[in-house]
This record gives sequence, structure tokens and C-alpha cells, in this order.
Amino acid sequence: MTTGGDPDPPVRSEHGVRIASAAGIDLDGLLLRGVSWGGIRTCLEVPQWDLLVDVGAVDHRQVYGRRVLLTHGHLDHLGGLANHVALRELMGQTPAEYFLPPSLVEPVQRLLALWREIDRAPLEVQLVPLPAGQVLPIQRDLALQSFETVHRVNSQGYLVWRVAQKLNEELQGLPSHEIAQRRKAGEVVTHEVQHAEIAFSGDTRIEGVLQHPAVMGAQRLVLEATFLDERVPVDQARRLGHVHLQEIAEHAERFTCETLVLTHLSQRYSLEEAARLVRATLPTELADRVVLL
Ligand SMILES: [Zn+2]
Ligand SMILES: [Zn+2]
Repeated sequence: MTTGGDPDPPVRSEHGVRIASAAGIDLDGLLLRGVSWGGIRTCLEVPQWDLLVDVGAVDHRQVYGRRVLLTHGHLDHLGGLANHVALRELMGQTPAEYFLPPSLVEPVQRLLALWREIDRAPLEVQLVPLPAGQVLPIQRDLALQSFETVHRVNSQGYLVWRVAQKLNEELQGLPSHEIAQRRKAGEVVTHEVQHAEIAFSGDTRIEGVLQHPAVMGAQRLVLEATFLDERVPVDQARRLGHVHLQEIAEHAERFTCETLVLTHLSQRYSLEEAARLVRATLPTELADRVVLL
């Protein structure tokens, strides 16, 4: 299922900071939607790629998600896993692929075995352990890479690369029949180019993203920002394994992404209040690139 024919979701703006609507937000041609509140539930969606990031809770709409990226085992990110598996079975879908940190494979298998005993459903899954740093092609022009993050439990984020073949510089402008001839003769006429489409931090301290330049420079960076003001100070945020808005401000010049999507906010902040704090805390140039979801 894709939403290619849907109109662009409306975008609300408070203090000049964009806020995703319930229908999601179009980020330069890539629809991102879903829900993410710190400690409550996280399930982000990229319908174009049939992709979900975490399954803290799911509903019937998310049955299309045949690729699920799991960042870590906290309940607000993993609690809906068995529901998602069962939902796809109910709707006659093939088992989804669940990409996850290798350390989670065995506990998740045990968890599903218990649910099978209780629910008497097959609950078939494809668990795909993805060690941090590993790159895995997921379709002809897309590859997935996990990256190490820093949280209270074992965790990782994900980067989606677009992979394309580009004609070699020296051949550009040549007539196509000549290029075809050269290719036929065995000459390598193209080279691979990669573009970091989107990165998902999952739950992490800020160094979980700072230490990965490709993540910081992704076209779209979806970053957790659980705490936004002095009600929870930076050192406490760090102890809890989360990012504080103040830290984003401190490292503002390192955020070379085009769009910075802030998610996983603590429920103590409304989106309107979050927009005000983003505007007041971040340099204008970075605040202008922020989307709240
Ligand atoms: Zn969380
Ligand atoms: Zn967590």
C-alpha cells in the first residue's frame, strides 16, 4: 500500500517551526507520519517504502509495514511487536521483516514463543539481526545501515541510503549509442553514488548521532529530543540516555542535515510549547529547518 495519490498533508506552523499533522508531513517528497512520545509510544512510518520504525503500539493502518526497524527493547518502542505480527496474519499478509540489534533476537524469539502459547496464533516472523555499521540492500535502489547509539539498554539507529548508478564524468555528453558500444566492449561506464535519504536515531544520548557524520548530514534526520527546557536539566537527560534541546543548540553547526525532525518529546510539552522552545533555544538557521512530530 502506498499513499502516492494522497494530497500533501497540511503543515501547521507555530513560531515559524513546522509541526507535522496527524496525516504526517511531506519532507521533500518523502511522507513521514506516525506517533512518538517519550515513554508512551513510538511508531514512525514511511509508507512509500512500506517501512515502520519501532512498534511501541500499532493499529490496523500499519498492516502495510512489511519492513520494521527496531531500535531497542524499551516497551514504548517494542511493546506492539506481537500485535503487528498478528495483525499481518489476520489480514493475510506475508510475515514482515523485523530488523533489530543482534542482542534482541533471542529475547524476541522467546517473547513470541510465549505469545504463541497464549494466543495459539502462528506468529511467523523474519528476524533480521543487523550489527551496527552493517549495510544491507533492501530494494534495487535502497540500502539500510544500522549505527551504534548510546542509551540505557543496547540500542541502534538506522540510515536509509539511496543507491544509484551514475554515468562516468568523462562520458557525459557522448551520444548514447557510443556509450552503449563502450559498455558492450566491456568498459565500465558508470559508478555507484549514494545519498543518505533519512536517518532515525531511536532513543540515544546526543553522541549517538554526533559520532556519525553520515547521520548528521542525512537529507532528513529524525532525532529524539525528549527534554526541551530546564524542567529536566541536561545532566538528568543524559543520565536517562536522552537528548536535550540545549545540547542540540550547543552542537548546532554540526547538524548539516537539510531537515531536522524532532520526535519522542516528553509529554510534559505540548507541540505548541515545543515550537516556542525550539525557536527560543536554537540558532534561527537551525530552527528554520526543524519539524516537530
Ligand atoms: Zn523511548
Ligand atoms: Zn528507550
